[in-house]
Amino acid sequence: RPVRPEDPLDGLDPEQRAAASAPRGPVCVLAGAGTGKTRTITRRIAYLVRQGHVAPTQVLAVTFTARAAGELRARLRQLGVEGAQARTFHAAALRQLRYFWPRVVGDAQWELLDGNKLRLVGHAANKVALPTETEVLRDLAGEIEWAKACLVGPDDYPAVAKERRRDIGYPVEQVADVYYTYERLKNDRRLLDFDDLLLHTTAALEEYPEVAREFRERYRCFVVDEYQDITPAQQRLLDAWLGGRDDVTVVGDANQTIYSFGGASPRPLLEFTRRYPNATVVRLERDYRSTPQVVELANRVISGARGRPAGARLRLVGQRPDGPRPTFSEYDDEPAEAAAVAQRVRELMAEGVPAGEIAVLFRVNAQSETYERALADAGVPYQVRGGERFFSRPEVRKAMTALRAASASEPEVGTADLPTAVGRVLAPLGWGPRQPVGGAARERWSGLQALYELAQDFAAEFAAVSEGEQPTLARYVAELDQRAAAQHPPAVDGVTLASLHAAKGLEWDAVFLVGLAEGTVPIQHATTEDAIEEERRLFYVGVTRAREHLALSWSLSRLPGGRPHRGRSRFLHGLAPEDEPAPRVRRSSRRRTRERAVCGACGRPLGTTLEIKIGRCADCPPDID
Ligand code: ATP
Ligand code: MG
Repeated sequence: RPVRPEDPLDGLDPEQRAAASAPRGPVCVLAGAGTGKTRTITRRIAYLVRQGHVAPTQVLAVTFTARAAGELRARLRQLGVEGAQARTFHAAALRQLRYFWPRVVGDAQWELLDGNKLRLVGHAANKVALPTETEVLRDLAGEIEWAKACLVGPDDYPAVAKERRRDIGYPVEQVADVYYTYERLKNDRRLLDFDDLLLHTTAALEEYPEVAREFRERYRCFVVDEYQDITPAQQRLLDAWLGGRDDVTVVGDANQTIYSFGGASPRPLLEFTRRYPNATVVRLERDYRSTPQVVELANRVISGARGRPAGARLRLVGQRPDGPRPTFSEYDDEPAEAAAVAQRVRELMAEGVPAGEIAVLFRVNAQSETYERALADAGVPYQVRGGERFFSRPEVRKAMTALRAASASEPEVGTADLPTAVGRVLAPLGWGPRQPVGGAARERWSGLQALYELAQDFAAEFAAVSEGEQPTLARYVAELDQRAAAQHPPAVDGVTLASLHAAKGLEWDAVFLVGLAEGTVPIQHATTEDAIEEERRLFYVGVTRAREHLALSWSLSRLPGGRPHRGRSRFLHGLAPEDEPAPRVRRSSRRRTRERAVCGACGRPLGTTLEIKIGRCADCPPDID
């Protein structure tokens, strides 16, 4: 735990300091990865609070992934800023909507359309006579999400979709019909999807002056991290929050735009000064996160990008001491790659790198399982990032039920010691103060431990904002529901397995970028130049997560014995420094066993599969027993 600085500007470089201590009003930080953007804004919040410019409870900091929001919260807590809100856009909107809802819509019960979205899209597709296979429904749902993120309704969808060359394989008019029908079915059933959270909150603020007044009195200072990934719907919500005020600090890196397919755009970041000509603008190019070796690689990756706007042309300069060179390794197949990664993880841990400081990052979630298995086989504790999984884990579901039941019989004062009360509920399910040794028990424990840690966080946050009131189990359960809805993952200490998207804004001592083969990075369905450039930025995000150790790997086929049918990622070409030895080809474990097989009679190594069966080389008599 770092020492809390006496002065929030301590330990900032001149540019960071200028941004953190800028007068209230619009501030724009354009900066590369690892240059201290998140550090600068959290220090800015601490500075404004310490100077008495705002109360912590008047600050709303937003970002895009639950993990990044957690990171903001953690850093604010370290700085001693209690009570400032740091959330994802969706979680912030959900919370506000819950509060305003009765006034805006009355008593009617609406529910969050959680796991059943595809079913509803399926009903809509069926009515429009489109196929209802899961893949099709996923594409349709994604397209509806894109349209809503871009504030494009069903009527306008066909024209806009044509203009933006959206193509999910069905005529845009039909997609629009599905979109329209889906919205209608959803409203009839009084359901809200995630995008509705943003849209309805915006509408409440835009159309109900009372609501807007109350909200704007409460929040006075807005901060957006990762601003390069804002969608039009989110920007509109931000504008509704601001209501014409300009007390907003944005930070972002246009080279890290990785959600443009979903409607995100770096344009508001790049055009911020046009909108606010009086803005304080700061560029950060000193990289504090990574060794010069990693920084150099990152610069190479991004310098290959096409059509970079001026605001994105940053050249990172490494500030840390030298570290090991990034490694490049090729494998025959994925299990071999995963086994080697798990082995290397163990070595790093033996060298003293904590498991929580190691991450394995991949392009698609389906890759996770191979690595989960390899790490489990190697006895390495790990956690999978991506909140959905957590709240659907059996022990977590059971715990939620138990907590809900306990909250029903809770005393009228509340609960003096919420974490202890939560611990008491969790104990019969397998939680205790010490981590158990066995695999399954440990897995279960880690889920419950995360709930316990959340209770601690919740109680601390509650104490900071409530005046003497006690937290209740019921409120804690409501908070969990909200997190489950907004997919907030909790922190548990193990090796992190995460998709590149989920890794944004985070950092680890050691990062393994795996599966860097054509078809995966860039992903097969990225066919346009724009889509490929987005894949490159995603790769850049991955590279820039590493503080010290960076290992890049790929395999030539998916399964052992499969034909090598794919090359390494095009983004790797020209990356290995000239004097780096040619990438080593490592064999899969199965092939290795085969190669090690020797003749049962003379001990000479055996070459081919046939001989392995017999267990004798061609010169010796066959083993007839
Ligand atoms: P990303 O683009 O990945 O979100 P970022 O710009 O938000 O990165 P931070 O996460 O704030 O970068 O900082 C990267 C690392 O560098 C952190 O470990 C942070 O503590 C450290 N750091 C930032 N600024 C300084 C500084 N002035 N002195 C020392 N360390 C710093
Ligand atoms: Mg950041």
